[in-house]
Amino acid sequence: MVRNSMRGWAVALSAVLAIFGAACQSAPEVPEGPPVTALTGVRIIDGTGQAPVEGGTILISEDRITAAGANVEVPAGATVVNLDGKTVMPGLINAHGHVQYLSDSMPMRDDLVRRLRMYANYGVTTVVSLGQQEDDRDAVVALRDEQDGMELDRARVYTSGPSTRAHQSSEAARAAVTDLVNRGADRIKFHMQGGEGRMSGETVTALIDEAHTRDLRTFSHIFTLEEAKLIVNSGIDVVAHSVRDQDVDEELIEAMRSRNVGYVPTLTRDLSVFTYEATPAFFQDPFFQRGMSVYGEEVTMLSDETYQQEVRADEGAQAIKAALTQATRNLKLLSDAGIQIGMGTDSGVRGNPGRWQGYFEHVEMTMMVEAGMTPMQVLVAATSGAAAVSALDDVGTIAPGMVADLLVLDANPLDDINNTRQINSVWLEGRQLNGD
Ligand SMILES: [Zn+2]
Repeated sequence: MVRNSMRGWAVALSAVLAIFGAACQSAPEVPEGPPVTALTGVRIIDGTGQAPVEGGTILISEDRITAAGANVEVPAGATVVNLDGKTVMPGLINAHGHVQYLSDSMPMRDDLVRRLRMYANYGVTTVVSLGQQEDDRDAVVALRDEQDGMELDRARVYTSGPSTRAHQSSEAARAAVTDLVNRGADRIKFHMQGGEGRMSGETVTALIDEAHTRDLRTFSHIFTLEEAKLIVNSGIDVVAHSVRDQDVDEELIEAMRSRNVGYVPTLTRDLSVFTYEATPAFFQDPFFQRGMSVYGEEVTMLSDETYQQEVRADEGAQAIKAALTQATRNLKLLSDAGIQIGMGTDSGVRGNPGRWQGYFEHVEMTMMVEAGMTPMQVLVAATSGAAAVSALDDVGTIAPGMVADLLVLDANPLDDINNTRQINSVWLEGRQLNGD
């Protein structure tokens, strides 16, 4: 009996378990953890330079990429965004831009925010602002400090504060770095310049050493090969403009290679110096015109015949044509030599109109290809390369653990670099940006 009754109890128990199990199977599966978004059917250009994945899937959870590749399973409960045939690459990173107050007509913060939004609308999801004015430095530091705690709807910004320069002693240079750090700089930028403002190698070495003591990377404005050698031999991390007076030589290349120094060409910076000698054709480009809410004031100024005549008559501006040709040659030489290239434009700087935040990053990439880099090399420079020279660890590639800043394109930029302009959508920290 005991046996039977035991058997009877076991039968009853198994019946209960069967019902319970059936109930479990019929209920919708509740995925563990935060919601997952799956971008499916996409060509993935991951930013590292490796061959693209066709028909891939990217999983996003909160602000991060959790998986990416050809054989990624979409978990139950994920929100699927079918992007069949689209190309997904990391959001663009500008290793040398400027977020500065340029408006005559609106409050500073509003102007800075709309400029960061314009970068993002063009797919530039991170910008390193290498140079502020006294009046806008604190506002940009404040924007940087608040960006980690918000639903980001604008490009992420980092800032060097004002570019420091013309120190005549090591002590003065160190004190200047200390002041910049105390005022919120997260990188250090300085100008090499000729004449009495020129800093000695000893002073530059002290300046860079002070920044490194505080764990900050250093970027320098240069023009000549000789200046580039001086800063590289003084320990610089990034040459923040092109060498524009002569061909780079083996001595510089070897010094940059052995010290792992990055190079930011800023070709559009030089283009902007002379191109407004006439009304440029791109003012009519619909891709340019999507930025007119921000660009409009300067377009009016630069379309003025008197302004254009001044550019035509300015010897300094005209001389930059040859400098740009030289810069183009040197970019190819340094890229071929394996130097780390980071895309940067000098867009948005005050005092030099016509450096379009957003549009010029795409022109820069076009010019880099025209200089002789492959589209893949340029895409790397504009993503992981710019992240590397800027010491940004969790943006610039599509891989598990990276921030989900993504540029979705309607056409493949490996076929034609101008296809970066075929923007389908921009994603910031895992959320699709609403364009405006
Ligand atoms: Zn600059």
